[in-house]
Amino acid sequence: MSRFWKPGTEKPVLVDDEEGGVLFYSSLSSSSRYGHASIEKQRQRLPVYKYRTSILYLVENHATTVIVGETGSGKTTQIPQYLKEAGWAEGGRMIACTQPRRLAVQSVASRVSEEMGVKLGEEVGYTIRFEDITNADVTRIKFLTDGVLLREMMDDPLLSKYSVIMVDEAHERSLSTDILLGLLKKIQRRRPELRLVISSATIEAESMASFFNNSRKRQERDTEELGPKKEPAILSVEGRGFNVQTFYSEEPVPDYIRAAVSTVSSIHDEEPMGDILVFLTGQDDIEAAIQMLTEDSEVTRKQGLFVLPLYSGLPRSDQDLVFSPTPRGKRKVVISTNIAETSLTLEGIAYVVDCGFSKQRFYNPMTDIENLVVAPISKASARQRAGRAGRLRPGKCYRLYTEEYYLNEMSAHGIPEMQRSNLVSCVIQLKALGIDNILGFDWPASPSPEALIRALEVLYSLGVIDDDAKLTSPAGFQVAEIPLDPMISKMILASNDYGCSEEVITIASVLSIQSIWFSVRGSQKELDEAKLRFAAAEGDHVTFLNVYKGFIESGKSSNWCHKNHVNYQAMKKVQEIRQQLRRIAQRLGIALKSCEGDTRAVRKAITAGFFANACRLEAFSHNGLYKTIRSSQEVYIHPSSVLFRVNPKWVIFHSIVSTDRQYMRNVISIDPSWLTEAAPHFYQNQQ
Ligand code: ADP
Ligand code: MG
Repeated sequence: MSRFWKPGTEKPVLVDDEEGGVLFYSSLSSSSRYGHASIEKQRQRLPVYKYRTSILYLVENHATTVIVGETGSGKTTQIPQYLKEAGWAEGGRMIACTQPRRLAVQSVASRVSEEMGVKLGEEVGYTIRFEDITNADVTRIKFLTDGVLLREMMDDPLLSKYSVIMVDEAHERSLSTDILLGLLKKIQRRRPELRLVISSATIEAESMASFFNNSRKRQERDTEELGPKKEPAILSVEGRGFNVQTFYSEEPVPDYIRAAVSTVSSIHDEEPMGDILVFLTGQDDIEAAIQMLTEDSEVTRKQGLFVLPLYSGLPRSDQDLVFSPTPRGKRKVVISTNIAETSLTLEGIAYVVDCGFSKQRFYNPMTDIENLVVAPISKASARQRAGRAGRLRPGKCYRLYTEEYYLNEMSAHGIPEMQRSNLVSCVIQLKALGIDNILGFDWPASPSPEALIRALEVLYSLGVIDDDAKLTSPAGFQVAEIPLDPMISKMILASNDYGCSEEVITIASVLSIQSIWFSVRGSQKELDEAKLRFAAAEGDHVTFLNVYKGFIESGKSSNWCHKNHVNYQAMKKVQEIRQQLRRIAQRLGIALKSCEGDTRAVRKAITAGFFANACRLEAFSHNGLYKTIRSSQEVYIHPSSVLFRVNPKWVIFHSIVSTDRQYMRNVISIDPSWLTEAAPHFYQNQQ
């Protein structure tokens, strides 16, 4: 038996063999975890509590209130409750609080419902894509992703059911947050009674406030004007962070996962008790680090080290584990993505290990390739990460990079996602909301005109907008209606023409989640063998169909999943998403039909959505070099693809990841004539 948490196992059990006892953290009920009286005390101890009256006063009197405060000061969990207590949710109205991250939405909603002593999904609920845990009649405080709130505007353009909308984590400058801010500014003009609260961890309050300054010049302002003041108010919540001592690596670190593991090990050896928070970049890194910690016999021998992962896509029960109190005499090690940087606060962290990187989106309009890249974080992020160690007492932060690097090479702030993303989804959403002048839209951070033009081009080729850049009817409106990337939505629409909607909806569902495979470091060979059992010569999308079929034929058995290295939780999620997409498809008049194994039909439908991602194998390439048709970018098939080393001449990819090279993930082979069939103007004279 091991003393370490193994991610992905179904029941979250922490096994402690040294003590001979087994701790079921997650099975503790909320009242035994916190106790009701102690919750009230905890609430009052939070820094924002002192500002309760000021916050309510400002919200009452200003259309927009910008609130800045250290992570953990209670902004997210407390302010919606204060607003509710002050009556903002009376008369059937609701308070919305948006988050850029799904995991944060679930976590804070569950915390707030616990604090209020109500069942999650009743007075306090949450909505993320494909998961709505609210009850229209009784939910008063609703947590949701900024993306979901944007979607809600399609049915309710003025968001009339909300009295206050709190846009949280605004400093993250996620793509959807920025679009939302631009739209909320417009809504405010039509709904003077609406209140906005913009909250953020770092000081960008001035620029945020000036963006929302809807007031006319002061001397022009009619003093008799009714309603809240149009000048935004700014409130800064004094944090009470403690000093954090920072240590830098003496030399550049060649392998940050290894370095993180050995740092954890030496903290555990040499430093007094206190939990450790390690920042890595994603699920793969995190699982690798956990594996190394569990394999390291030196560490395994040690008493009382509990290692827990934290990343989006982790099952709910596992997420809750990281918040469980650390038993006396034990040390918790949470290995997290940058979700723990500002979105979630863990108590009891005394040591932070910062690898200096995070996964970030980068888009180049010249090549039209959007990458998910492991890239250096900014100084602002590094400071945030360090701050996590000093919440309750002085702490220590170990940076796995040199001081020179921090001082001279790290940029001061990150770039808003708006300026480094593919804007296809953004543009179609604005179009669907009737905003035609995309270039003239009032953006909090203007995207590059090249990126906007590229997006318009793609949408035009997809047949979603017409010559006047207006949404086409019905295709454009239908694509906008499906809560997925427009290319996937188009693929679903096209499946109607090819009689394979059942298959294509399955594929779209699989593509909506991170991975259906269950991978454990060190078992790559078994995973590859398992994949071979399902592998289709046509490529990954068809392979997904084989896996899904196997899952259904097994009676949705978790045992079957385990034997085949398939992630059971992921398959259950696929099935749920699939049901929802089928309902949406039916509503849009798409006939639910199976093509009974005709993979040409399926691939043609995929091509209809993803023609822009077509690539050709270089004629004399011995190492699998492809070039994109659109911009001659050099790309390779990712080793995780079933087409790796098969290298068909023509392929279409779903996404690109960059490491040492640009790799195509999720690839299918196609016939080039389908490209001209799908998008004639896009591919004239290409072959
Ligand atoms: P902020 O939004 O200002 O960063 P939060 O409102 O998220 O602060 O957090 C306030 C406090 O609530 C923190 O001390 C945090 O540890 C605690 N907290 C938040 N979510 C949870 C949770 N799911 N379980 C336990 N404690 C939580
Ligand atoms: Mg928060």
